[in-house]
Amino acid sequence: MLTHFIGGGPVAAGLGFPVHDPVTGTVVRHVHEADPEVVDRAVRAAREASRDWAAMPVGERAGWMRRLAEGIEERFDDLVAAEVADTGNPLDQTRTLDVPRGIANFRAFAEMAAQRPEDAFHLSGTFSYTVRRPLGVVAAIIPWNLPFLLMTWKLAPALVSGNTVVVKPSEHTPGSAAIFAEICAAAGLPPGVVNIIFGHGPAGQLLVEHPDVNAVTFTGSTRTGSAIMRTAAQRVKPISFELGGKNAGLVFEDCDLDRAVEGTVRSVFTNGGQVCLCTERVYVQRSIFEEFCARLAARAQEVEPQPMISAAHRDKVLSYYALARSEGAKVLTGGGVPVFGDHRDGGYFVEPTVVAGLSEWSRFNREEIFGPVCHVAPFDSEAEAIDLANSSEYGLAATVWTDGLDRAHRVAQRLEAGLVWINTWYVRDLRTPFGGAKLSGIGREGGTRSLDFYSEPTTITIKL
Ligand code: NAD
Repeated sequence: MLTHFIGGGPVAAGLGFPVHDPVTGTVVRHVHEADPEVVDRAVRAAREASRDWAAMPVGERAGWMRRLAEGIEERFDDLVAAEVADTGNPLDQTRTLDVPRGIANFRAFAEMAAQRPEDAFHLSGTFSYTVRRPLGVVAAIIPWNLPFLLMTWKLAPALVSGNTVVVKPSEHTPGSAAIFAEICAAAGLPPGVVNIIFGHGPAGQLLVEHPDVNAVTFTGSTRTGSAIMRTAAQRVKPISFELGGKNAGLVFEDCDLDRAVEGTVRSVFTNGGQVCLCTERVYVQRSIFEEFCARLAARAQEVEPQPMISAAHRDKVLSYYALARSEGAKVLTGGGVPVFGDHRDGGYFVEPTVVAGLSEWSRFNREEIFGPVCHVAPFDSEAEAIDLANSSEYGLAATVWTDGLDRAHRVAQRLEAGLVWINTWYVRDLRTPFGGAKLSGIGREGGTRSLDFYSEPTTITIKL
């Protein structure tokens, strides 16, 4: 049974729960569930470690980040295997994106923190400068869709800024975090700097409300974010939220159609649509609408189906397929459950699906589905396309497909989204801000924005 990692060692406490392989539906491991005592122990361990870790020069902490990156490299294959077993994500994606991004996160934030200039100003015989202090103990709550990538994305900047952390991975995907605990122990990271507790939502809730947790960084659904915000409000804890999306893709008639079709296939179906950045609403200029739909539907049929994370999530996605039909949609392809005739028939698969014909105000086009599915609709003018894209309550990401240079910038700058990709999708430079507007989040992480969130500035002024 997987144990918690507290104060530098394993802690076997709390009841056990099973984790299922989404490909077959079978149990892959059992995990301890954190109870109030475990949560308290983890926060106390983080607090104890906090003073020495915070006092360490940033260059030395950056050295620890590089050592953790090396530790990840040494356990690369184990991490890939654990991540694939828990998530059902494609092996190739896990090897080339998810785990390498974990390594890159530690290296990139080590460099950025070590090289960060301090502010300093002279004014009327005084000298002012700003130092940044860590927040203290940070709670990091992680979802299941890209567990290792998203955990390291928070841990690296939090740690290098001098905070100690308590991480709660998703109940569906504890495997890679458990290996990361072993990496921390093997690297000799001071005990208590990283603590990992396992469990469901209530364990996360206990962590957020713990009086000795100073800040909360959360990636997950908007609904959970809202619950966390209510809890964190009681002690006015700083929060950083990366939440859900209902992302739009805009396809203009002056695009390179091959590239737009292929890019849209990637942005809709990658990871079975279980990436917060995936496109669920595609708007296509009317003159190319029929051709685009036919090509997208044909390509969707060639996409290898990928499992949803759980039976419950599969049922949720299927309920949206049924909803689309009941709302009068035309199903261009998919809409059901694939039959393989092998072990995968016990897993949580749904068909890659493209639908059309629904109103903008239908529930299908308003709510995040988080599956391999999109709705396609025509537009006539650039202004209409922008309005349609912005009509969502969410504002995480958007894609624009056009060969018009001026149009690309004009449209991108008017979209209410934290990230806009032009003629590409899901390219991330770790130095740039990442996050969403509206229901998609609060704040930005990435580059100096992460270092800002995970620290408090103190401005010091002296009369010279
Ligand atoms: P979720 O909100 O159900 O769970 C996320 C985490 O929160 C889990 O660890 C869960 O145990 C914990 N949790 C649940 N209730 C809690 C509570 N009351 N207090 C504290 N913690 C609690 O999300 P999920 O289903 O794991 O992930 C999918 C969602 O995440 C989608 O909405 C997706 O868009 C979003 N997401 C966003 C980004 C982004 O960067 N914006 C990235 C990935 C995923």
